[in-house]
Amino acid sequence: MKINFLIIGSGIAGLTLAIKLAEQFPKKSVVIATKAGESNTRFAQGGVAAVLNKESDSFQKHIKDTLKAGDGLCNPEIVTKVITEGPQRLMELMQWGARFDMDSQQKLLLSREGGHSENRVIHYKDTTGREIERALTKRVHQLKNIRILCNYFATDLITEQFRNSIDDKSICRGAYILNQITGEVRTVIAETTTLATGGIGQLYTHTTNPDIATGDGIAMAYRAQAKIKGMEFIQFHPTTLHGKTKGISFLISEAVRGFGAILRNKNGERFMVRYDGRGELASRDIVSRAIHSEMIQSGDDCVYLDCTHLNEDKFKKQFPNIYETCLNRGFNILNDWLPVVPAAHYLCGGIAVDVFGQTTIRNLFACGECSYTGLHGANRLASNSLLEALVFAQSIFKYHVNFLPVKKQSISDMKFFRKHWVFIDNIKKIRFNTKTIQSLMSSSAGIVRSYDQLEETKIELHHLAEEAERMYTSNKIGTSLCEFRNMVTVAQLIVDQSLLRKENKGGYYNIQLENKHKKELV
Ligand SMILES: Cc1cc2nc3c(=O)[nH]c(=O)nc-3n(C[C@H](O)[C@H](O)[C@H](O)COP(=O)(O)OP(=O)(O)OC[C@H]3O[C@@H](n4cnc5c(N)ncnc54)[C@H](O)[C@@H]3O)c2cc1C
Repeated sequence: MKINFLIIGSGIAGLTLAIKLAEQFPKKSVVIATKAGESNTRFAQGGVAAVLNKESDSFQKHIKDTLKAGDGLCNPEIVTKVITEGPQRLMELMQWGARFDMDSQQKLLLSREGGHSENRVIHYKDTTGREIERALTKRVHQLKNIRILCNYFATDLITEQFRNSIDDKSICRGAYILNQITGEVRTVIAETTTLATGGIGQLYTHTTNPDIATGDGIAMAYRAQAKIKGMEFIQFHPTTLHGKTKGISFLISEAVRGFGAILRNKNGERFMVRYDGRGELASRDIVSRAIHSEMIQSGDDCVYLDCTHLNEDKFKKQFPNIYETCLNRGFNILNDWLPVVPAAHYLCGGIAVDVFGQTTIRNLFACGECSYTGLHGANRLASNSLLEALVFAQSIFKYHVNFLPVKKQSISDMKFFRKHWVFIDNIKKIRFNTKTIQSLMSSSAGIVRSYDQLEETKIELHHLAEEAERMYTSNKIGTSLCEFRNMVTVAQLIVDQSLLRKENKGGYYNIQLENKHKKELV
C-alpha cells in the first residue's frame, strides 16, 4: 500500500493530526492504522488544562506549576510553547464540535487538580476524553481522504539508512501492519509515519490504562534505533478504586480531590497533611508515595477517600460516571469511604522528539503519550497530557506544511518482511509471561524502587526477551505475541533507565538513594 501519511493510533494525538493533514492536503491520502481495543483518550476524566481565565490565572502560573511538577527536568522552552499555544488548540477542538461544561452565562467551567495553583481544567462532566474522541472521530469521518484501518496492528517500522556528506541518518518509509482478523501482514509505504500509540500501563498489575497500553510504538521505535528518553518516570495515579475489573483499575479523578474529597487512613486520620502542605492536592508522585507509605506502615492494602461531606447534587452533576460506577461496585460515595490504591497511570518518557514532534529518525514523528517532548520532565502535571497531544499534533502538522520530507527511494530498494505469517499465538504461555512482566515491574519498578531489585529484574527480563525473540521468529505470530515482545522491550527500557538514574526526581523514587541521602545528612 503506497500512501502519503501514515498515522498509527486513533487516540487524541492520531485523530487530531489526521484531521489537520487531511484538511490541508485534500489530494493526499491519510491512513490511520489502529489496533483493536480502546484508547487512553477515551478514559480521560478530569479534563484539559489551559489558561482561559486571564483575570485570576496567567501563562506564567501554569508554566510555574508545570515546572514544579516536573522537578527540574522539564524543557522550559517546550513548557512555554505548550502552555501558550494551549488555548488556541482548545478553541479549535470546540470548533470541531467538542463540548465542555459551561455555567449559566455560557462561560467555561474550570476545575482544579493536584499541583495546579488555579482552577484551569476544562472538562465535560467526568468523561472529557470520551467527548473529545467523539468529536474528533465525527470530523475524521467527514474527511474523504482519511482512511481508517481498524483492527490493524503495526508490528514494525520500515527504515533504511540515508547517507550523504553531512548526514548519516535512518529514514522511515512506513510500517508493517498485521490484520488482526485475517492474520495477513501488509506493507505500508508512506512519505511520513507518525506513532501515536499511547502509553504503557499494562506493564503493571494495577493500571488505569486499557488493554491497548502495551508500549508498542516505543518498542517499534527502539528497534528502529530511535532515541528513547525518560522511561524511568512513570506516574502512578494515587486514587483508583481498590479491586480490579477486567484488568483495569477504575480511576477516581484528581478533580474529586479538587472538589474537596479527603484521604484518610483506616483510623480516620487525614494523613496527607503530614506529607505535604498542599495536602490532598500535592502532586501525584507525592500523594502516591504517601499512600504507599501508609499502606506499608499499617499493613493494609488500601487507604480511603472520604467524600461524605460533599454536596450530593453538585457531586452527581460533576461526576456522574464516577458516582454511578462506584455505586455499581457497591459504594455510595456520599455515605461510604472509598477504598483506593495507586495504579500505573501515565508514562512521562517515551520516544524523544524535537519541537516539531520529529524523532531521531527522518520522516518519523511521535505524538501524544508515546512521545517525550520535554513537557513533563520527571512528572506530569495533571491534565497536561491531552493538551500536549493537541499542541504537538499542530507542530507535526506545521512541519508537514513547511518542510518537504526526504525524497523517497523506490520500493524495490527496500527489504521486505518475511512472507509467511501464521496467525497462531501460544496464548497460555504468552499470558503467563505477560503476568510475569506485570508482577516483576510492579514489585521492582513501581512507586518505590531499589537498585538491587532492579538488577534482579533486569536478569529476569533478559530471559523473557530471549523467549519473546524465540517465539517471534518461530513463524507463529499474532497480537498477543507482538504485544508481549513489545512489553518486554519497554520493561527493559524502564529498568535500564531506572538503573542509570542517580538522583530521586519526580516520579522516580529509589529507596537506596533516599537512604544514602539520609546518611550523608547525618
Ligand atoms: C483513566 C485515565 C484518565 C486520564 N485522565 C486524563 C485527564 O483528565 N487529562 C489529561 O490530560 N490526561 C488524562 N489521561 C491521560 C490521557 O488520556 C492520555 O495521555 C492521552 O489520551 C493519550 O493519547 P494518545 O493519543 O497519545 O494515546 P491513546 O489515546 O492511548 O491512543 C493510542 C492509540 O494507539 C493504538 N495503538 C497502540 N498500539 C498500536 C499498534 N501496535 N498498532 C496499531 N495501533 C496501535 C490504540 O489502539 C489507540 O487507538 C488519562 C488517562 C487515563 C488512562
